[in-house]
Amino acid sequence: MELNVLVLGGDGIGPEVTREAVRVLRHVAEKWHHRVRLTEGLLGGIAIQKTGTPFPEETARLAAEADATLLGAVGLAEFDQAPPEKRPEKGLLGIRQALGVYANLRPVRAYPSQLDASPLKNHLVEGTDMIIVRELTGGIYYGTPRGITGEGAETRAVNTMTYTRPEIERVSRVAFPLARARRKKVTSVDKSNVLENSQLWRRVVTEVAREFPDVALDHMLVDNCAMQLILNPRRFDIVLTENMFGDILSDEGAVLAGSIGMLPSASLGARRPSGAWTGLYEPVHGSAPDIAGQNKANPLGAIGSVAAMLAYSFSLQEEAAAVETAIEAVLRSGRVTADLRPSGAPATTEQVGESVCAAIG
Ligand code: NAD
Repeated sequence: MELNVLVLGGDGIGPEVTREAVRVLRHVAEKWHHRVRLTEGLLGGIAIQKTGTPFPEETARLAAEADATLLGAVGLAEFDQAPPEKRPEKGLLGIRQALGVYANLRPVRAYPSQLDASPLKNHLVEGTDMIIVRELTGGIYYGTPRGITGEGAETRAVNTMTYTRPEIERVSRVAFPLARARRKKVTSVDKSNVLENSQLWRRVVTEVAREFPDVALDHMLVDNCAMQLILNPRRFDIVLTENMFGDILSDEGAVLAGSIGMLPSASLGARRPSGAWTGLYEPVHGSAPDIAGQNKANPLGAIGSVAAMLAYSFSLQEEAAAVETAIEAVLRSGRVTADLRPSGAPATTEQVGESVCAAIG
Protein backbone atom coordinates (compact mmCIF):
# COMPACT_ATOMS: atom_id res chain seq x y z
CA MET A 1 0.00 0.00 0.00
CA GLU A 2 1.17 3.55 -0.65
CA LEU A 3 1.05 5.83 2.40
CA ASN A 4 0.89 9.36 1.05
CA VAL A 5 1.41 11.59 4.10
CA LEU A 6 1.88 15.34 4.56
CA VAL A 7 4.14 16.21 7.51
CA LEU A 8 3.79 19.60 9.20
CA GLY A 9 6.36 19.83 12.00
CA GLY A 10 5.29 23.31 13.08
CA ASP A 11 7.00 25.11 15.97
CA GLY A 12 8.92 24.44 19.17
CA ILE A 13 9.04 20.73 19.98
CA GLY A 14 6.71 20.02 17.02
CA PRO A 15 9.52 19.12 14.57
CA GLU A 16 11.33 17.05 17.25
CA VAL A 17 8.39 14.80 18.13
CA THR A 18 7.28 14.61 14.50
CA ARG A 19 10.72 13.38 13.45
CA GLU A 20 10.33 10.38 15.80
CA ALA A 21 6.76 9.76 14.63
CA VAL A 22 8.01 9.68 11.03
CA ARG A 23 10.82 7.32 12.07
CA VAL A 24 8.18 4.92 13.42
CA LEU A 25 6.00 5.32 10.32
CA ARG A 26 8.93 4.50 8.03
CA HIS A 27 9.85 1.52 10.21
CA VAL A 28 6.31 0.13 10.07
CA ALA A 29 6.21 0.66 6.30
CA GLU A 30 9.45 -1.23 5.85
CA LYS A 31 8.37 -4.13 8.04
CA TRP A 32 4.95 -4.55 6.38
CA HIS A 33 6.17 -3.67 2.85
CA HIS A 34 4.24 -0.43 2.35
CA ARG A 35 5.61 2.51 0.43
CA VAL A 36 5.74 5.86 2.26
CA ARG A 37 5.53 9.04 0.22
CA LEU A 38 6.17 12.02 2.50
CA THR A 39 5.76 15.68 1.65
CA GLU A 40 6.61 18.49 4.04
CA GLY A 41 4.81 21.79 4.54
CA LEU A 42 4.66 24.90 6.70
CA LEU A 43 2.11 25.70 9.39
CA GLY A 44 1.99 28.05 12.38
CA GLY A 45 4.78 30.39 13.49
CA ILE A 46 7.35 29.00 11.06
CA ALA A 47 4.87 29.59 8.23
CA ILE A 48 4.36 33.23 9.33
CA GLN A 49 8.13 33.74 9.43
CA LYS A 50 8.63 32.26 5.96
CA THR A 51 5.46 33.30 4.10
CA GLY A 52 3.69 35.93 6.23
CA THR A 53 0.65 33.74 6.93
CA PRO A 54 0.06 30.89 9.45
CA PHE A 55 -1.74 28.71 6.89
CA PRO A 56 -0.19 29.20 3.42
CA GLU A 57 -2.20 28.19 0.35
CA GLU A 58 0.56 25.76 -0.57
CA THR A 59 -0.04 23.90 2.71
CA ALA A 60 -3.76 23.73 2.00
CA ARG A 61 -2.99 22.28 -1.45
CA LEU A 62 -0.55 19.68 -0.09
CA ALA A 63 -3.04 18.63 2.61
CA ALA A 64 -5.80 18.19 0.03
CA GLU A 65 -3.51 15.96 -2.06
CA ALA A 66 -2.27 13.78 0.84
CA ASP A 67 -4.11 10.73 2.21
CA ALA A 68 -3.40 11.89 5.76
CA THR A 69 -1.64 14.75 7.56
CA LEU A 70 0.73 14.41 10.51
CA LEU A 71 1.15 17.59 12.55
CA GLY A 72 3.54 18.45 15.40
CA ALA A 73 2.45 21.59 17.25
CA VAL A 74 2.25 25.32 16.62
CA GLY A 75 2.92 28.37 18.78
CA LEU A 76 5.79 30.83 19.17
CA ALA A 77 6.09 33.40 21.94
CA GLU A 78 7.07 36.14 19.50
CA PHE A 79 3.50 36.15 18.15
CA ASP A 80 1.78 36.24 21.57
CA GLN A 81 0.72 39.88 21.13
CA ALA A 82 -0.26 39.53 17.46
CA PRO A 83 -3.93 39.85 16.38
CA PRO A 84 -5.79 36.50 16.04
CA GLU A 85 -5.39 36.44 12.22
CA LYS A 86 -1.60 36.64 12.53
CA ARG A 87 -1.13 34.05 15.27
CA PRO A 88 0.28 30.55 14.70
CA GLU A 89 -2.86 29.00 16.25
CA LYS A 90 -4.87 30.43 13.35
CA GLY A 91 -3.01 27.95 11.13
CA LEU A 92 -4.34 25.10 13.25
CA LEU A 93 -7.93 26.29 12.97
CA GLY A 94 -7.34 26.86 9.24
CA ILE A 95 -6.12 23.35 8.43
CA ARG A 96 -8.83 21.70 10.52
CA GLN A 97 -11.45 23.68 8.65
CA ALA A 98 -9.83 23.12 5.21
CA LEU A 99 -9.74 19.35 5.74
CA GLY A 100 -13.24 19.39 7.24
CA VAL A 101 -12.09 17.26 10.17
CA TYR A 102 -15.04 17.70 12.51
CA ALA A 103 -14.48 14.89 15.03
CA ASN A 104 -11.41 15.01 17.25
CA LEU A 105 -10.68 11.74 19.06
CA ARG A 106 -8.45 12.02 22.12
CA PRO A 107 -7.83 8.67 23.82
CA VAL A 108 -6.76 8.87 27.46
CA ARG A 109 -5.27 5.76 29.05
CA ALA A 110 -3.52 5.25 32.34
CA TYR A 111 -0.79 2.73 31.47
CA PRO A 112 -0.13 0.40 34.44
CA SER A 113 3.62 1.15 34.32
CA GLN A 114 3.01 4.93 34.47
CA LEU A 115 0.58 5.20 37.39
CA ASP A 116 3.25 6.87 39.54
CA ALA A 117 3.74 9.58 36.89
CA SER A 118 0.25 10.90 37.63
CA PRO A 119 -0.08 13.29 40.58
CA LEU A 120 -3.35 11.52 41.47
CA LYS A 121 -3.47 8.49 43.73
CA ASN A 122 -2.85 5.24 41.85
CA HIS A 123 -6.16 3.67 42.90
CA LEU A 124 -8.01 6.60 41.29
CA VAL A 125 -6.28 6.54 37.90
CA GLU A 126 -5.76 2.79 37.56
CA GLY A 127 -7.91 1.34 34.76
CA THR A 128 -8.69 4.72 33.16
CA ASP A 129 -9.47 4.14 29.49
CA MET A 130 -11.62 6.66 27.65
CA ILE A 131 -11.85 8.52 24.36
CA ILE A 132 -12.84 12.16 24.41
CA VAL A 133 -14.71 12.92 21.18
CA ARG A 134 -14.56 16.66 20.66
CA GLU A 135 -16.49 18.51 17.94
CA LEU A 136 -13.74 20.38 16.09
CA THR A 137 -15.00 22.72 13.40
CA GLY A 138 -17.96 24.48 15.04
CA GLY A 139 -18.86 26.30 18.23
CA ILE A 140 -17.36 29.43 19.72
CA TYR A 141 -13.93 29.10 18.06
CA TYR A 142 -15.49 29.65 14.63
CA GLY A 143 -18.79 31.47 15.27
CA THR A 144 -19.48 34.97 13.96
CA PRO A 145 -19.93 37.81 14.77
CA ARG A 146 -16.68 38.01 16.66
CA GLY A 147 -14.17 40.74 17.48
CA ILE A 148 -13.35 43.68 19.71
CA THR A 149 -14.98 47.06 19.01
CA GLY A 150 -15.01 50.49 20.63
CA GLU A 151 -12.51 52.13 22.93
CA GLY A 152 -12.05 52.95 26.59
CA ALA A 153 -15.11 52.25 28.72
CA GLU A 154 -17.04 51.45 25.51
CA THR A 155 -14.72 48.58 24.52
CA ARG A 156 -16.70 45.45 23.84
CA ALA A 157 -15.65 41.92 22.84
CA VAL A 158 -17.96 39.38 21.20
CA ASN A 159 -17.66 35.69 20.39
CA THR A 160 -20.53 33.58 19.14
CA MET A 161 -21.24 29.97 19.98
CA THR A 162 -23.21 28.39 17.16
CA TYR A 163 -24.18 24.80 16.43
CA THR A 164 -26.52 23.42 13.82
CA ARG A 165 -28.37 20.11 14.03
CA PRO A 166 -26.26 18.45 11.26
CA GLU A 167 -23.02 19.43 13.02
CA ILE A 168 -24.15 17.75 16.23
CA GLU A 169 -25.56 14.72 14.42
CA ARG A 170 -22.40 13.92 12.46
CA VAL A 171 -20.03 14.03 15.45
CA SER A 172 -22.52 11.96 17.47
CA ARG A 173 -22.50 9.38 14.68
CA VAL A 174 -18.74 9.06 15.17
CA ALA A 175 -19.03 8.71 18.96
CA PHE A 176 -21.73 6.03 19.21
CA PRO A 177 -20.11 3.46 16.87
CA LEU A 178 -16.84 3.95 18.79
CA ALA A 179 -18.66 3.14 22.02
CA ARG A 180 -20.16 0.05 20.38
CA ALA A 181 -16.67 -1.37 19.88
CA ARG A 182 -15.76 -0.62 23.53
CA ARG A 183 -17.74 -0.55 26.80
CA LYS A 184 -20.92 0.75 25.12
CA LYS A 185 -21.29 3.98 27.06
CA VAL A 186 -21.44 7.60 25.88
CA THR A 187 -21.38 10.53 28.29
CA SER A 188 -22.47 13.72 26.52
CA VAL A 189 -21.13 16.87 28.16
CA ASP A 190 -22.82 20.26 27.89
CA LYS A 191 -23.95 23.32 29.84
CA SER A 192 -27.66 22.97 29.14
CA ASN A 193 -28.66 24.58 32.45
CA VAL A 194 -27.39 27.91 31.06
CA LEU A 195 -26.83 27.77 27.27
CA GLU A 196 -29.48 27.31 24.56
CA ASN A 197 -26.67 26.01 22.42
CA SER A 198 -26.21 23.15 24.87
CA GLN A 199 -29.95 22.52 25.00
CA LEU A 200 -29.90 21.82 21.26
CA TRP A 201 -26.76 19.71 21.74
CA ARG A 202 -28.49 17.56 24.37
CA ARG A 203 -31.67 17.19 22.31
CA VAL A 204 -29.86 16.09 19.13
CA VAL A 205 -27.47 13.69 20.91
CA THR A 206 -30.49 12.07 22.61
CA GLU A 207 -32.17 11.62 19.23
CA VAL A 208 -29.07 10.10 17.60
CA ALA A 209 -28.70 7.75 20.60
CA ARG A 210 -31.97 6.04 19.56
CA GLU A 211 -30.14 4.69 16.49
CA PHE A 212 -27.78 2.88 18.89
CA PRO A 213 -30.04 1.16 21.46
CA ASP A 214 -27.20 -1.07 22.66
CA VAL A 215 -25.17 1.97 23.78
CA ALA A 216 -26.01 3.65 27.11
CA LEU A 217 -26.15 7.45 27.05
CA ASP A 218 -25.89 9.78 30.01
CA HIS A 219 -25.60 13.57 30.14
CA MET A 220 -23.31 15.58 32.36
CA LEU A 221 -22.81 19.31 32.88
CA VAL A 222 -19.31 20.43 31.95
CA ASP A 223 -18.45 21.77 35.41
CA ASN A 224 -19.38 18.45 37.02
CA CYS A 225 -17.48 16.58 34.28
CA ALA A 226 -14.31 18.54 35.09
CA MET A 227 -14.64 17.25 38.66
CA GLN A 228 -15.65 13.66 37.83
CA LEU A 229 -12.70 13.24 35.45
CA ILE A 230 -10.44 13.61 38.46
CA LEU A 231 -12.63 11.94 41.11
CA ASN A 232 -13.76 8.91 39.14
CA PRO A 233 -12.14 8.72 35.68
CA ARG A 234 -12.95 5.01 35.28
CA ARG A 235 -16.66 5.82 34.93
CA PHE A 236 -16.02 7.28 31.45
CA ASP A 237 -15.89 5.32 28.21
CA ILE A 238 -16.71 7.81 25.40
CA VAL A 239 -16.99 11.49 26.37
CA LEU A 240 -18.80 13.42 23.62
CA THR A 241 -18.64 17.18 23.75
CA GLU A 242 -18.48 20.45 21.82
CA ASN A 243 -15.34 22.25 20.71
CA MET A 244 -14.32 24.48 23.63
CA PHE A 245 -15.46 22.13 26.40
CA GLY A 246 -13.48 19.32 24.73
CA ASP A 247 -10.41 21.49 24.41
CA ILE A 248 -10.41 22.26 28.11
CA LEU A 249 -11.50 18.86 29.47
CA SER A 250 -9.00 16.90 27.40
CA ASP A 251 -6.05 18.63 29.08
CA GLU A 252 -7.22 16.97 32.29
CA GLY A 253 -6.40 13.77 30.47
CA ALA A 254 -2.75 14.75 30.86
CA VAL A 255 -3.08 14.44 34.62
CA LEU A 256 -4.57 10.97 34.25
CA ALA A 257 -2.03 9.71 31.69
CA GLY A 258 0.93 11.12 33.63
CA SER A 259 2.06 13.69 31.05
CA ILE A 260 0.54 15.72 28.26
CA GLY A 261 3.33 14.34 26.07
CA MET A 262 1.58 10.95 26.18
CA LEU A 263 -1.67 12.00 24.52
CA PRO A 264 -2.30 11.35 20.80
CA SER A 265 -5.22 12.62 18.75
CA ALA A 266 -7.00 11.89 15.49
CA SER A 267 -9.21 14.44 13.77
CA LEU A 268 -11.56 12.82 11.28
CA GLY A 269 -13.60 14.22 8.41
CA ALA A 270 -15.23 12.62 5.40
CA ARG A 271 -15.10 8.86 4.93
CA ARG A 272 -13.96 7.44 1.59
CA PRO A 273 -15.82 4.56 -0.09
CA SER A 274 -13.04 2.25 1.18
CA GLY A 275 -14.00 3.13 4.76
CA ALA A 276 -10.77 5.12 5.33
CA TRP A 277 -11.15 8.52 6.96
CA THR A 278 -9.76 11.88 5.88
CA GLY A 279 -7.58 12.58 8.89
CA LEU A 280 -5.28 15.02 10.65
CA TYR A 281 -3.12 13.40 13.33
CA GLU A 282 -1.34 15.34 16.06
CA PRO A 283 -0.34 15.06 19.69
CA VAL A 284 -2.55 17.01 22.09
CA HIS A 285 0.32 19.08 23.51
CA GLY A 286 1.52 22.47 22.28
CA SER A 287 4.94 23.69 21.14
CA ALA A 288 6.38 23.59 24.71
CA PRO A 289 8.82 26.51 24.26
CA ASP A 290 10.35 25.77 27.68
CA ILE A 291 11.92 22.51 26.42
CA ALA A 292 12.15 23.14 22.66
CA GLY A 293 15.40 22.21 20.91
CA GLN A 294 16.68 20.15 23.84
CA ASN A 295 15.84 16.60 22.68
CA LYS A 296 13.79 16.23 25.88
CA ALA A 297 10.22 16.17 24.60
CA ASN A 298 8.16 13.02 24.97
CA PRO A 299 7.36 11.82 21.41
CA LEU A 300 4.84 9.13 22.45
CA GLY A 301 1.80 11.36 21.83
CA ALA A 302 3.06 11.98 18.29
CA ILE A 303 3.90 8.29 17.82
CA GLY A 304 0.46 7.29 19.15
CA SER A 305 -0.97 9.66 16.54
CA VAL A 306 0.80 7.61 13.84
CA ALA A 307 -0.91 4.49 15.23
CA ALA A 308 -4.24 6.30 14.90
CA MET A 309 -3.35 7.33 11.32
CA LEU A 310 -2.58 3.73 10.37
CA ALA A 311 -5.92 2.61 11.81
CA TYR A 312 -8.28 5.35 10.63
CA SER A 313 -6.79 6.66 7.37
CA PHE A 314 -5.19 3.46 6.05
CA SER A 315 -7.29 0.73 7.74
CA LEU A 316 -4.02 -1.01 8.74
CA GLN A 317 -5.21 -2.39 12.08
CA GLU A 318 -2.38 -4.89 12.59
CA GLU A 319 0.27 -2.22 12.04
CA ALA A 320 -1.56 0.23 14.34
CA ALA A 321 -1.81 -2.38 17.09
CA ALA A 322 1.92 -3.15 16.74
CA VAL A 323 2.78 0.53 17.34
CA GLU A 324 0.53 0.67 20.39
CA THR A 325 1.99 -2.52 21.82
CA ALA A 326 5.50 -1.12 21.24
CA ILE A 327 4.59 2.09 23.11
CA GLU A 328 3.47 -0.03 26.09
CA ALA A 329 6.69 -2.04 25.96
CA VAL A 330 8.82 1.12 25.97
CA LEU A 331 6.85 2.47 28.93
CA ARG A 332 7.36 -0.79 30.82
CA SER A 333 11.10 -0.66 30.08
CA GLY A 334 11.33 2.62 32.03
CA ARG A 335 13.51 4.24 29.31
CA VAL A 336 11.24 7.27 29.05
CA THR A 337 11.60 11.05 28.87
CA ALA A 338 11.89 13.30 31.94
CA ASP A 339 8.19 14.31 32.02
CA LEU A 340 7.34 10.71 33.03
CA ARG A 341 9.78 10.92 35.95
CA PRO A 342 11.84 7.77 35.25
CA SER A 343 13.80 6.31 38.17
CA GLY A 344 17.04 6.33 36.12
CA ALA A 345 18.48 8.87 33.70
CA PRO A 346 15.77 10.17 31.35
CA ALA A 347 15.84 9.06 27.73
CA THR A 348 16.01 11.61 24.91
CA THR A 349 13.26 12.20 22.37
CA GLU A 350 15.33 10.37 19.78
CA GLN A 351 16.07 7.40 22.02
CA VAL A 352 12.36 6.91 22.72
CA GLY A 353 11.65 6.92 18.96
CA GLU A 354 14.41 4.36 18.38
CA SER A 355 13.13 2.19 21.25
CA VAL A 356 9.62 2.13 19.80
CA CYS A 357 11.05 0.96 16.44
CA ALA A 358 13.14 -1.70 18.21
CA ALA A 359 10.07 -2.92 20.11
CA ILE A 360 8.10 -3.20 16.85
CA GLY A 361 10.90 -5.49 15.72
P1 NAD B 1 2.22 23.06 25.99
O1 NAD B 1 1.43 21.82 25.78
O2 NAD B 1 3.10 23.48 24.89
O3 NAD B 1 3.11 22.90 27.31
C1 NAD B 1 2.55 22.73 28.61
C2 NAD B 1 3.59 22.07 29.53
O4 NAD B 1 3.70 20.69 29.16
C3 NAD B 1 4.99 22.65 29.40
O5 NAD B 1 5.62 22.62 30.67
C4 NAD B 1 5.71 21.70 28.46
O6 NAD B 1 7.10 21.61 28.66
C5 NAD B 1 5.03 20.38 28.78
N1 NAD B 1 4.97 19.52 27.59
C6 NAD B 1 4.18 19.68 26.51
N2 NAD B 1 4.40 18.73 25.61
C7 NAD B 1 5.37 17.93 26.13
C8 NAD B 1 6.05 16.78 25.64
N3 NAD B 1 5.77 16.23 24.45
N4 NAD B 1 7.00 16.23 26.44
C9 NAD B 1 7.30 16.75 27.63
N5 NAD B 1 6.68 17.84 28.15
C10 NAD B 1 5.74 18.43 27.39
O7 NAD B 1 1.15 24.22 26.34
P2 NAD B 1 1.40 25.78 26.59
O8 NAD B 1 2.69 26.00 27.30
O9 NAD B 1 0.13 26.27 27.16
O10 NAD B 1 1.51 26.41 25.13
C11 NAD B 1 2.75 26.67 24.45
C12 NAD B 1 2.42 27.10 23.02
O11 NAD B 1 1.79 26.03 22.32
C13 NAD B 1 1.45 28.29 22.94
O12 NAD B 1 1.88 29.11 21.89
C14 NAD B 1 0.12 27.64 22.63
O13 NAD B 1 -0.76 28.50 21.94
C15 NAD B 1 0.55 26.48 21.76
N6 NAD B 1 -0.38 25.32 21.75
C16 NAD B 1 -0.47 24.66 20.58
C17 NAD B 1 -1.25 23.51 20.51
C18 NAD B 1 -1.25 22.74 19.22
O14 NAD B 1 -0.43 22.98 18.35
N7 NAD B 1 -2.15 21.78 19.05
C19 NAD B 1 -1.91 23.03 21.64
C20 NAD B 1 -1.77 23.73 22.84
C21 NAD B 1 -0.99 24.87 22.89
